[in-house]
Amino acid sequence: MDDNKLLTSIHKCSKCNFTASYIEVINSHYNTIHATNEEKKTNSKFYCENCNIGFNDEYIFKFHYAIHHATKEERKKYYNFYCETCNYGSNDASVFNIHMSAFHNTKK
Ligand SMILES: [Zn+2]
Ligand SMILES: [Zn+2]
Ligand SMILES: [Zn+2]
Repeated sequence: MDDNKLLTSIHKCSKCNFTASYIEVINSHYNTIHATNEEKKTNSKFYCENCNIGFNDEYIFKFHYAIHHATKEERKKYYNFYCETCNYGSNDASVFNIHMSAFHNTKK
């Protein structure tokens, strides 16, 4: 049996018994479960101080920020289409139109 050879390619988390075949999986596991806020900060390209969540993708970070923390003015700037009534925004015209007709009965 050659099965034991497979085990040599398995990475193990330094803090617990979690194992994975890819070091990337270990890293994201570590970041989610064990990393302190300071570690998350240094390990992530973008970091939300309010939620202690790290992001490596600028788009996702901006999206998170726009949804959770942006002020009305910031949301307005961020979205191409913005509904003053609900503080709802979208960059997709068709999605925005669905919102408008569903919540505000606008017909075009
Ligand atoms: Zn672990
Ligand atoms: Zn946040
Ligand atoms: Zn609305």
